[in-house]
Amino acid sequence: MVNLHGVVNTIRLVAEFPFVLRGIFGARSIKQSGHIHINTVNAVFHFKTCRWSFAARSNNKCESSDSRKERNVFHTHGNVSESMVLSERNKQHLSSLMKEKIIALAGQIHNDVVSWRRKIHANPELAYAEVQTAAFVAEHLRSLGLDVTTEVAKTGVIGLLKCNNSESKCVALRADMDALPILEANAVDYCSKNEGVMHACGHDVHTANLLGVASVLSELRNELSGTFKFIFQPSEEKIPSGADAMIKAGALENPKPACMLGLHVSPEIEVGKIGFHAGKFMASSDEIYITVIGKGGHAAQLHNTVNPLFAASEVLLELQKVSDAKKPVVLNFGKIEGLGATNVVPEKVEIAGTLRCFDEQLRFELHKFIKDEAAKAALRHNAKCEVNILQGYPVLVNDHETTAAAKLAAADILGEEAAIDVPQRMGSEDFAYYTHHVPACFFRLGVGNAAKGITSAIHTPTFNIDEDALKHSVAAMSWMAVKLMQE
Ligand SMILES: [Zn+2]
Ligand SMILES: [Zn+2]
Repeated sequence: MVNLHGVVNTIRLVAEFPFVLRGIFGARSIKQSGHIHINTVNAVFHFKTCRWSFAARSNNKCESSDSRKERNVFHTHGNVSESMVLSERNKQHLSSLMKEKIIALAGQIHNDVVSWRRKIHANPELAYAEVQTAAFVAEHLRSLGLDVTTEVAKTGVIGLLKCNNSESKCVALRADMDALPILEANAVDYCSKNEGVMHACGHDVHTANLLGVASVLSELRNELSGTFKFIFQPSEEKIPSGADAMIKAGALENPKPACMLGLHVSPEIEVGKIGFHAGKFMASSDEIYITVIGKGGHAAQLHNTVNPLFAASEVLLELQKVSDAKKPVVLNFGKIEGLGATNVVPEKVEIAGTLRCFDEQLRFELHKFIKDEAAKAALRHNAKCEVNILQGYPVLVNDHETTAAAKLAAADILGEEAAIDVPQRMGSEDFAYYTHHVPACFFRLGVGNAAKGITSAIHTPTFNIDEDALKHSVAAMSWMAVKLMQE
């Protein structure tokens, strides 16, 4: 005799299967886990309530004593899980094939990527003047068959790589293209030809790397899905920010990215390693300009003058108290100028400094506090005080899930020891603007090599990189983008 009750429940079970799977593994873990073992799933079907309970997690007891019904259910569950394990294995196999292809392609194009980096390095251009660099980028992206838009926010370039089912999802990748007003002191044959301008912050590396990633992924476009958006922006080094300008020009629309990646060279990290930090990673930065106004005159006539130097000293001592390692907050000054003489009290003193912190609300509270405290300190000397705060970049906040996925992908393709955790940095970076619109991960690429003597810091005339880093970065960023597209 057919056990009708058992059949009905089996049908219900199959109908509920997608929800059941979500319940057992969670939607994400189905995609992420490398192996799913049937015997780890300790699931019992409740016939009375038609609900799944999970003895291991919830300690619920099965109320049914009908062992035949339970057998039917476990039999059904076992078959489904086995086919799922098979398709998981299939997926893993395809995934590891894709990874091997990316490693091979990154190796094949490495010499090209190095030559692009050297070409860009030899021809550095300042913020919003990246004309030749942008033309080079656009030409390369077009040669790969990407849809290219130029002159975004003046010199920015956007390339779209549309793969299968291109509207399903978009992953964005960003590089900055501008150089710094520094006279290069490196004796290399690709030394800057533009005297007084140098790629001393590695944006030549970021640009060449992203061209490499575009080359790798476009080679695999028939095997990939979704759209990869390559954003090459102007002016990271100088306010107004190129990132902010790109966003205002619509770089994050049509299509809107689901997540975003960016990187920065780090000579203090050895080549072969990549540094990650989830959450608040880099500080906000604001420029602080203070003018202390007194009353100038002959230095001998003490009572006919209001000396702004004394007032400025008091302002500085008062504002020194703002820095706080626990929060952390840094308010520091690098310039004080009072153009008097031994016997001349100047009319005013100019002070300039920077404010860094990791909390947007605190940041704006501090702006008011600085203005109030500076005014009070100056007034104690009968001087006046004007504070002008030029807002720089916001706090860079790395999305936890995107960062975890990017780090996992880096470890997967470069080895566990390659993906390291790095601490918060007081430096700022305009990638921060993107992180306030899109879940994003900004990571640090190790380019230092103490054994080869490559240790110079960024923004110095002798900054350089171990170019082997480009092999790692092209492979890792390509694989991160592919994995994020699959999430
Ligand atoms: Zn820089
Ligand atoms: Zn930089």
